[in-house]
Amino acid sequence: MTFSDQTRNELARVIPSARCCRIAELSAMYELDGFLLGEYNQYLDFNNSSPVVARKILLLLKGLYPEIPTQVLVVKSRSRRTQICTVRVLGREAAGQVYQDFKDQSVLEESGIPRKKCCRRAYLRGAFLSRGSITNPERTYHLEISSEQTVLAEKILETMLSLNLEAGITQRKGTLVVYMKDGQQIVNLLNLMGAHSALLHFENVRVMKDMRNQINRLVNCETANVDKTVKAAMEQLEDIRLLDEVIGLEELPPKLQEVARLRQANPYASLQELGDLMVPPMSKSGVNYRIRQIREKARELDGLDPES
Ligand SMILES: [Zn+2]
Repeated sequence: MTFSDQTRNELARVIPSARCCRIAELSAMYELDGFLLGEYNQYLDFNNSSPVVARKILLLLKGLYPEIPTQVLVVKSRSRRTQICTVRVLGREAAGQVYQDFKDQSVLEESGIPRKKCCRRAYLRGAFLSRGSITNPERTYHLEISSEQTVLAEKILETMLSLNLEAGITQRKGTLVVYMKDGQQIVNLLNLMGAHSALLHFENVRVMKDMRNQINRLVNCETANVDKTVKAAMEQLEDIRLLDEVIGLEELPPKLQEVARLRQANPYASLQELGDLMVPPMSKSGVNYRIRQIREKARELDGLDPES
């Protein structure tokens, strides 16, 4: 099962207690995947590919309108790989009553988004159950809710923004997609919708990823430093070899001779480590000063070296 399916299944089991929120959640599912049908509008349908979500729709309807007649239809595609579950409110009067509640202006802002914060959360949950998906955080951080209708995509975006969530909107093959790319924002939305298990999984992966990144950064940094030290040491050994071949190390002043011989004996030591090996020990900058003198002498010789 994908992470998206897991999240949907979890949200399908969240039943809001307040009547206002139940209507708000159903209204999102109706707007995104529902229809008023029949010559006399005698059917109000909710469609969803998930039976778990269809069950929730039925539960919410039965809780709100115990008297109204309903019907559940399942249509499998020819390949039998996908299915559409339809929860249908039967009868013109019943369908009209439910529809009226969805359009009740007293609970909506002028823009159409629910007035109350509790209902905005429920609305987003309904929208996610209908048209939402979330990528496994192991791969990337991405959550989206799509709609072919500009008005609805904008409504979803506005509802998110009204809850201090950051989201964007884009177009993909004629469909509008409201999306989130930021891990923290996705966590906030999962929390507002009530997907606590999904949130926990998401956070665990996020912490692991952060740690992995930090470790990689440190390792890369370390490797770069080691590379630099080794490269410098190789150049020093080359200078020393040149001096030894052309004039002989014993011709160098004793202080330089000591550093040169220590370097030859300890090709991978840092300057600090070389300093510690000297008698008496010398500071890193002291060793560096002598190394630079060796380098200058080698440069002077370079032109005389028959091999170069
Ligand atoms: Zn509410």
